Amino acid sequence: MTDYEKIDTYLETNLNKSIAELSKLVAQPSVGAQNLGMKECAALVADMLKARGFKVEILQTPGAPVVFGERKGKSDKTLLIYNHYDVQPPEPLELWETPPFEPSLRNGKLYGRGVGDDKGHIAARLFAIDSLLDADGDLPCSIKFIIEGEEETSSVHLYDFIAGNKDRLRADACIWEFGSVDHRDVPMEYLGLRGICYVELSVETAATDVHSGLGGSIFPNAAWRLVWALNTLKGPDERILVPGFYDGIRPPSRRDRELMSALPDIADEYKSRFGVKKFIKGLTGGLDLRIEEVFTPTCTICGLTSGYQGPGSKTVLPARASAKVDFRLVPDQKPDDILKKLRAHLDTQGFSDVQITDLGGDAPARTDPDDPFIQLVAKTSEEVYEMPMQLVPLTGGSGPSHPFVHDLGLPVATAGLGHPDGRAHAPNENIRIDLYLKHARHMARIISEFAK
Ligand SMILES: [Zn+2]
Repeated sequence: MTDYEKIDTYLETNLNKSIAELSKLVAQPSVGAQNLGMKECAALVADMLKARGFKVEILQTPGAPVVFGERKGKSDKTLLIYNHYDVQPPEPLELWETPPFEPSLRNGKLYGRGVGDDKGHIAARLFAIDSLLDADGDLPCSIKFIIEGEEETSSVHLYDFIAGNKDRLRADACIWEFGSVDHRDVPMEYLGLRGICYVELSVETAATDVHSGLGGSIFPNAAWRLVWALNTLKGPDERILVPGFYDGIRPPSRRDRELMSALPDIADEYKSRFGVKKFIKGLTGGLDLRIEEVFTPTCTICGLTSGYQGPGSKTVLPARASAKVDFRLVPDQKPDDILKKLRAHLDTQGFSDVQITDLGGDAPARTDPDDPFIQLVAKTSEEVYEMPMQLVPLTGGSGPSHPFVHDLGLPVATAGLGHPDGRAHAPNENIRIDLYLKHARHMARIISEFAK
């Protein structure tokens, strides 16, 4: 029998010490996009693992290094834990109430860049391990950590890393880097991630911008070329017009619909949180909104750049225009395939002058809701959150879960300290200390029960 009372007492007594360790980790910048502090942060994470008796290697990739740690436990089962030590850029700095790399504790929350995404998860999981080692002197099962440094920049080298380290990463199940409660404080189990294909589309029509009075009647305009090209991608009915785009899509199963229908209506929550007046496609709420939210792929213009946008007027004909566009993909779409179809479509439509720059992709992946590991993770939350986790078949975001599910053959479960107002990627990123403690208590239970 695992003595959870002893474990919980340990976690409550040592909480401040763990928060101090997390604060030190947050204070070490590790901004992947700016190549700031990456090596230093990898070394710090390695030291944190070593302090728990893990055998640690800092493995080089063509980008940021991967920290790999392993500690054997009593049972012959192995749990793989995936995390990342890189963070998003902190800008705009003026919107932070306290500086992003000076962690600040106020009103039961810890603020700082990366505190929730994903450093809090690293620290809370090590804290759970501390409680198990304190209770027993040994781990109940073997644990491997794979902590990468490129999650916020599309995990570009993680796929090759996993393919080249299958033996090293061999395990029986995987805990994902994040997890969260929803707006009701109900812990959620996200069973899958959508894929993504992220591109930049760009057009250049002249060597330099031109006086619009000189060129307007006779020169091609890069901004118009781009707008016309974008216009061929999606209709006003929201249907994506790239031929073959919807090929191979698996519609939600009966079980998916059953799980989705157990989720609360999210319409009002979204309207008030984001100030959105109405949804597209005539959606009003309920199950239809929930299904449409994650089970249909998207084509989103994320940004548009061309010509003059400063104060007043400037009569100029832009030579260049570009747009960032992301496609969120659902099972079983593949980013490489979408990229090919996009190129073919633009060529057919007469836009071979529109360049496509591939900015990274992930394939969608899911774990079966009835997998025993999912059931274990959901059930062990009961004692901690006073309710089982609610299963969500698919979530709208993306991540590199495909190689974990398909190359390593692992069930992947989420569990974590996230909350809806955590401001990940935005100024004033924060975690709730109560949820930090709960996540550590939950992780201690997951590891103990998994070992049995
Ligand atoms: Zn992130």
